[in-house]
This record gives sequence, C-alpha cells and structure tokens, in this order.
Amino acid sequence: MIQVHSIPILQDNYCFLIEDPKDRTCVIVDPGESAGVISAIKERNLKPVAIYNTHHHADHIDGNEALLKEYGALPVIGSAGDRERIPQLTQYLREGDKVEFGGETAEILEVPGHTLGHIAFVFPGHIFAGDLIFGYSCGAVFEGTMEQMYHSVSKLLKYPDDTLVYIGHEYTLNNVKWAQHVDPDNPDIQQRVALETAPPTVPLQLGLEKRTNHFLRCDDPKVQAFTGKTEPAEVFGALRTHKNNFK
Ligand SMILES: [Zn+2]
Repeated sequence: MIQVHSIPILQDNYCFLIEDPKDRTCVIVDPGESAGVISAIKERNLKPVAIYNTHHHADHIDGNEALLKEYGALPVIGSAGDRERIPQLTQYLREGDKVEFGGETAEILEVPGHTLGHIAFVFPGHIFAGDLIFGYSCGAVFEGTMEQMYHSVSKLLKYPDDTLVYIGHEYTLNNVKWAQHVDPDNPDIQQRVALETAPPTVPLQLGLEKRTNHFLRCDDPKVQAFTGKTEPAEVFGALRTHKNNFK
C-alpha cells in the first residue's frame, strides 16, 4: 500500500513523495526545487529510489539535478516525448507502459496538450497528473491543440470517483468564480465552495471534479448551452478560451 505526501514548493506548486511504508523508500514526483524536497524527505526519514517527471516545465524538474547529487544515481523516469527536454531522464515511457513501486503498478497515460510530451502516472486510486487538470480547471494549452487536450483530460473520466488526483498547482480557489460563472446553479459547486474554503485542496477527488470541473463535463447539456456548441472537443476549446479571458 503506497502512501502519498504533498510537499508545497515554490510559489504554489506541489511535489509529491510516494512512500512505501514497509521499507520507508519513496519516489519523488515533480521536484520543481530541491531544498524543500530534501528537508521533507529528511523529516520523514525516507530513502528515495526514483524520480518521476510528468513534463518538462522547470517548476516540475528543476530539483532533479540537486536531488541526484544528494541521493546518487536514481532512475529518473519520464516521457519518451521529453527525451530532449529533460536531460536527467534515464527511462522514457509511452502510453500503456508500466512502472512499479511499493508492490503496486502504475500505468502510463500520454496526455498531450499542456506540453506535447506530458504523461500521467496512474496507480490504483492515485493519479499523478502534473498540469493536466487543476481544481475546477485544466492546464493551459501551450504546445498541443485544444482537440488533443480535450482527449487527454477526458482520459480521466474512466477512473473511479474515489480516485485521488495529485496535481502540480494549488489553484483551486482562484477558479471558483469562473466555475460559478459558467454554471451558476450547480448544487455540487455550491456545496464544494462551502466546504473547501482554504488550501490545501490537493489531492483532488476525481468524482467531485467530474461534477464541478467543466472541462470534464463537455458532454453535459448545461455546459454545452453556455458555450453554444455541442461537439465536445469544440465545447472544450470554447471553455478554455473563455477561461483564458475571464477576469
Ligand atoms: Zn507545466
């Protein structure tokens, strides 16, 4: 049974430590810096055995180098698509590949859009999703197309509602106004807003995201009506553009 620790780093990022409590080993997910991560590892008396990177952005990988200095030549596991962009990578993963830790197996999802090489690590009950989604939102579409990002985000829909989603940023409360603007009388949003009043809001609960994150609701008639579109990938694109411009 793995256990996950959220480590707040930088301005509003999270790095995660996946611990195997049997032998106190851990995997470091998306170390955007090293000092805070090393002290979190020391505090818990853990022994790192690998680094996972979801994508090449600096706020997810800048700690790699110093962590390798501190802990020796750990495997650094990331996307085959990031081979040129994350110099420390030692393993290059594709859709459907598997990685093992703590007696559990994570399946790799390719989720292009925010970046082209973005991947997610899907352990049973725990998804490490980087900047794929945020609370009420999704990552900005920097490198891929809206269509790609729509398909990437939609890959989350098949997992059970009680899945926890570990994401790169504590942005949830910033996105409330937009979520309410798009679907003002959504009872699930009203209830969520009343309960979720301060950070940390991560990990996200996938079931709640499915009901309150409009980017996961592109086939919902209410969301479609807001955008004036019916084809789900177009609904997604219209929502993303609207949110980019929302003040
Ligand atoms: Zn990013």
